[in-house]
Amino acid sequence: MVDVLVIGGGNAALCAALMAREAGASVLLLEAAPKAWRGGNSMHTRNLRCMHDAPQDVLVEAYPEEEYWQDLLKVTAGKTNEGLARLVIRESSTCRPWMRRHGVHFQPPLSGALHVARTNAFFLGGGKALVNAYYRSAERMGVQVRYDSPVDRLELAGERFVAAFIGAERIAARSCVVAAGGFESNREWLREAWGQNALGEWPADNFLIRGTRYNTGVLLKHLIALGADAIGDPTQAHMVAIDARAPLYDGGICTRLDSVSLGVMVNREGQRFYDEGEDFWPKRYAIWGRLVAQQPGQIGYSIIDAKAIGRFMPPVFDGISAASLPELASKLGLDPDRLMRTVTDYNAACRVGSFDHTVLDDCRTEGLVPPKTHWALPLDTPPYHGYALRPGVTFTYLGLHVDASTAVRFGGKPSDNLFVAGEMMAGNVLGQGYTAGVGMSIGTAFGRIAGSQAAAATGHSIPNPIKPDRLDRRSRA
Ligand SMILES: Cc1cc2nc3c(=O)[nH]c(=O)nc-3n(C[C@H](O)[C@H](O)[C@H](O)COP(=O)(O)OP(=O)(O)OC[C@H]3O[C@@H](n4cnc5c(N)ncnc54)[C@H](O)[C@@H]3O)c2cc1C
Repeated sequence: MVDVLVIGGGNAALCAALMAREAGASVLLLEAAPKAWRGGNSMHTRNLRCMHDAPQDVLVEAYPEEEYWQDLLKVTAGKTNEGLARLVIRESSTCRPWMRRHGVHFQPPLSGALHVARTNAFFLGGGKALVNAYYRSAERMGVQVRYDSPVDRLELAGERFVAAFIGAERIAARSCVVAAGGFESNREWLREAWGQNALGEWPADNFLIRGTRYNTGVLLKHLIALGADAIGDPTQAHMVAIDARAPLYDGGICTRLDSVSLGVMVNREGQRFYDEGEDFWPKRYAIWGRLVAQQPGQIGYSIIDAKAIGRFMPPVFDGISAASLPELASKLGLDPDRLMRTVTDYNAACRVGSFDHTVLDDCRTEGLVPPKTHWALPLDTPPYHGYALRPGVTFTYLGLHVDASTAVRFGGKPSDNLFVAGEMMAGNVLGQGYTAGVGMSIGTAFGRIAGSQAAAATGHSIPNPIKPDRLDRRSRA
C-alpha cells in the first residue's frame, strides 16, 4: 500500500507530492486529466505574489508582510483568516529556492503586464513550464503518476481516510491529500449556485471557464456531503470579463481584454452600468466578470475610439472596427440610436483635464450616472472599436474549512490522515476578491504543508518541515 495518495495534478497537488516524497514517503498522484492536459488551472498561470523586504533577483524594491496583508485585507473586505493569510505571505518569501530546486525558473515581467514587477515573481515559460518542471522532478524522485484518473469518491472510517475510488477501482493509502481544484467547470453546480435572474435567465449558462475542464468539484461536493466542514459562498469566484469569442474552457490569459478603462462599457441595451475609471485596471479587472454577469444576456461591450489604441495591451483577437459609432453598433448587434444616446450623453459630461493613464488623472464626467471618475475622454475619433465580453470564471471560492495543519475537519474534528490544499481550501484566505498572484502563493504554501503533514501521518518527516503547530495562533479554524 502506498504511503501518501495525492488527488489532483496542479500546483498544490505537485507541491504536496514533492514534499511528501522528500520526506521519504512513497507517493502516488492521481490526475483526472490526460497527460497532454495535466496541470489544472496552474498551467495557465504566470506568476506568484511574493513578500520580500529588499530587492530579490526578479523582484524590485520591497513588498513587506504588512503591505501584502493590507492588500489582501482590502480585496477580501475582511473576509479572510488573518493567521492563514499571514502564513501564506511569509511562505511566499521563502518558497522560491525550493521551487528552483525542483526546476522552476523566474523572469522579470514583460512590459504591459499588470504593473506587478515589485510584487509578483513571473515563471519563465509560464505555469505550463512550472508544472512540467514539477512533474519531471516528481518522476525523477520516484513519485508514481497516473493520468486519466478522476477520483469520484473516498472511503472514510470516521474522520480517517481509507481509500479512493476511480469507478470500481479501489486505491488504499495510509494518508491522502486532496488538491483537486474548485468546481468552476461544473456547469450544473454553477447554475444551481447562481440561480435565475429577474429576467428568467440562468446567468451561469453564459459563463466561460478560463481554465481546465477537469475541475468539476466532484470531491469537494462528496466531502461536504460526508460532513466535512466547508467555508465560503458558492457564488463567489474570481471572474474576469473576457472576449466573448473565447472557447468554453482553457482560453487562458490571452482572452482577457484591457481596454475597459479607456472607453465606455455598455450592456446589450446600449447602456453604461459601472464606472469604467474607478481605479487602476490591475485593481479592477477582476470585478468586471461579475458586473457583466449581472447584465441582461450576461454580455457587455467595451467601446473605444482611435485615441485608446496603443494605450492598452493589444488583444490577441482583433475587435470589431467601424468608421462611425452607428456603424459599430450595427456590427456589434446593438441598437445604433441607443448607443448614440449613451455616447452623446457621456461625451457631453466629460470634463477633460490632463489625461494620464498611469495616474488617477483629473479627466472625469460631471452629472452622469454612473460617473466615469478617471480617464474620461470623449469618444470622437474614428475608427471606433468594440469588443463583446462575457464573464470568464477563473476559479470558485467555496472550499473546505481548515486551520494551518490543512487537515480536513468533520464537525470541527480534524482528520489525522486526510489533508487539503489549493483551490479546494483557498476560500479560507479569499472570502471574496482577489489580488494577482495569490492563488499560486496559497497553493504553494498549503500544498507544501499538506504534503509534509500527509508524510508525517505515515511516520515520515523531513528535518526542517514547515511546522504548522508553530505558526500563528490566529490561523486556527
Ligand atoms: C487563466 C488563468 C490564469 C491564472 N493566472 C494566475 C497567476 O498568474 N497567478 C496566480 O497566483 N494564480 C493564477 N490563476 C489561479 C491559479 O490557477 C489557481 O489559484 C491555482 O492554479 C490553483 O492550484 P490548484 O492546484 O489548487 O488547482 P489546479 O491547478 O486547477 O489543479 C487541480 C487539479 O485537480 C485535478 N482534478 C480535478 N478533479 C479531480 C478528481 N476528481 N480526481 C483527480 N484529479 C482531479 C485537475 O485535473 C487538476 O490537475 C490563474 C487561473 C487561470 C484560469
